[in-house]
Amino acid sequence: MVINSGEKIDLSALLAGEILCLPFEFRLKDFSPGKGYVDIEPIGDVIIDGRIINNEGYIRLEAVLTMHYRTACARCAVELERTLHVPVERVIATQAQVEGAEDADDYLILEGEALDLAPLATEEVYLGLPMRELCSEDCRGLCPKCGKNLNEGPCSCPEREPDPRLAILSKWSEKYNND
Ligand SMILES: [Zn+2]
Ligand SMILES: [Zn+2]
Repeated sequence: MVINSGEKIDLSALLAGEILCLPFEFRLKDFSPGKGYVDIEPIGDVIIDGRIINNEGYIRLEAVLTMHYRTACARCAVELERTLHVPVERVIATQAQVEGAEDADDYLILEGEALDLAPLATEEVYLGLPMRELCSEDCRGLCPKCGKNLNEGPCSCPEREPDPRLAILSKWSEKYNND
């Protein structure tokens, strides 16, 4: 069963015990992360693929969230394409069942006999995205002076500014050795 964003999953048959397992694929369309939060651009839909299981009235969702996206290396700014895979497991309950519970946020709350997975998809994307992306662990980044991508080879900037204290020391040592 494919459910698009804006639609809810109808759990009435599962809640009535007519079926015990409901496989689904939820597609969140046009997801765009808040400006300045994460610098990514999704490619296609965010997908939650999984099933909802009724185990003697204890209802659980087991799924995997997948999102393909474009982003940039935090050091050298080269464009990257990445895929996020997040396992998602939640217990589904009614508002009345979790009323006052300290861990109420951990549950997916039924709206009547239906479930909206869009908030879950958004939350899991934010929790699952890395703080920053690198093209490789040993990315050399950009030269802070000339801006050249140092993964493509060294630039012609001097390796390091000579330390003025060392310069004085070497002058002194030259003089000492000459005397
Ligand atoms: Zn890089
Ligand atoms: Zn340089």
